[in-house]
Amino acid sequence: MQHSSLYQYKPYNYSYSYDFVFAGAGVAGLSLLVRMLQSGLFNGFSFLLVDRDRKASDNTHWCFWERGRGYFESLVAHRWQKTWIHGPGYSDCIPIAPYEYKMIRKNDFYRYCLDYIKTRDNVRLLFEPVRSIRQHNNRGVLHLENGERYEAAIKLFQSFQLQPTPADRRILLRHSSGWVIETPSPQFDVSANTMMDLRMPQQDGVNFMCTMPLAENRVFIASNLISGKSPAEKADDERLSGYLRNNLCLSAYHVVDIEKRSTLMNSESRQSTDRNIVHIGGRHSFGLIQEESDAVLRAFLSNEDIGKACSHPHRFRFYDKMMNEALRHKHPSGAAHLTRIFRRNPVQRVFRFLDKQTTLTEDLQMMASLLGLS
Ligand SMILES: Cc1cc2nc3c(=O)[nH]c(=O)nc-3n(C[C@H](O)[C@H](O)[C@H](O)COP(=O)(O)OP(=O)(O)OC[C@H]3O[C@@H](n4cnc5c(N)ncnc54)[C@H](O)[C@@H]3O)c2cc1C
Repeated sequence: MQHSSLYQYKPYNYSYSYDFVFAGAGVAGLSLLVRMLQSGLFNGFSFLLVDRDRKASDNTHWCFWERGRGYFESLVAHRWQKTWIHGPGYSDCIPIAPYEYKMIRKNDFYRYCLDYIKTRDNVRLLFEPVRSIRQHNNRGVLHLENGERYEAAIKLFQSFQLQPTPADRRILLRHSSGWVIETPSPQFDVSANTMMDLRMPQQDGVNFMCTMPLAENRVFIASNLISGKSPAEKADDERLSGYLRNNLCLSAYHVVDIEKRSTLMNSESRQSTDRNIVHIGGRHSFGLIQEESDAVLRAFLSNEDIGKACSHPHRFRFYDKMMNEALRHKHPSGAAHLTRIFRRNPVQRVFRFLDKQTTLTEDLQMMASLLGLS
């Protein structure tokens, strides 16, 4: 692989050229960039990292399942070895080994990655909004809103969408609203979280609760709604307080932190025909993004196609689309279907399916359980 000189300035077209450009300093961009830099294999290469957001402070977190030690293991704030699934007529606490459910705080992740990146003199950080990204003359070309133009001589890694795709116009939102609460006495088992409690009214969309015990008297509880529109703020609070009262039988507690987030969760459209632009991240989980980042690094080492390392078998895109359409139409028995999946399959198979790692035979087993055939 050839590399260009650092920060090569091209006065004839006012363009700056780097070997690698990262558009997006979220989970996907930072996970891959930090791996590349820490591998020691890219010391002679130049990098540009662009994001519109400085990541100054974000008190939210990611929770995700992962097998064994992860790349960012030292940042894990909490971990659980068992998970509860509750649905209509079903409740089970399931050991998830060899997986663990982990929590990483966004502030810790961004601080670790950005502090490390700032120590490297072959990386330039730019906090500006991007206007467009396209391929031109075998290069990935990025234009900022302020008119500046940057090129990637080798690869441009893009982790956000600029233009809404046709699917985005049929909007599907995942809305999540959470509280951290404390109780006066110990109430929670810190070895088990609740991944999904579907015993909720389902008329507004697919509605489920998660609980993540942080200490015996402290828990993060989140209400999640997958729907065509955001719920009213009051509805969030009512859902959370109702769940604490009716399902967890708690009346004495105080709320110590609040978080809210809403994001599009339409089917991904990451495949690119541009040789120099690679789409990474998307609405994948933190854990899956780590696996993809490892795969990209392996592809670099073995001189394989980087784009392929980030792609998954086509059938998973089809499953994604099917799932989104079903959710968009507020499938009346969505909660029952999801419950049946957990009831009829080992949770490890469900995790592998959601991580797009199952075999076709396992996919058929998942489908059979969904349709009530197993
Ligand atoms: C409500 C909700 C809760 C979730 N909870 C979890 C969870 O608990 N665990 C989990 O594993 N996953 C969770 N996810 C999935 C989560 O989206 C991914 O884990 C992860 O954030 C995706 O990483 P990414 O790098 O692709 O995107 P992001 O982390 O969103 O990064 C994209 C970056 O691009 C930047 N950007 C966007 N547009 C522009 C532009 N025009 N110019 C410049 N910069 C731009 C953004 O500022 C951002 O930094 C959740 C998603 C939602 C919606």
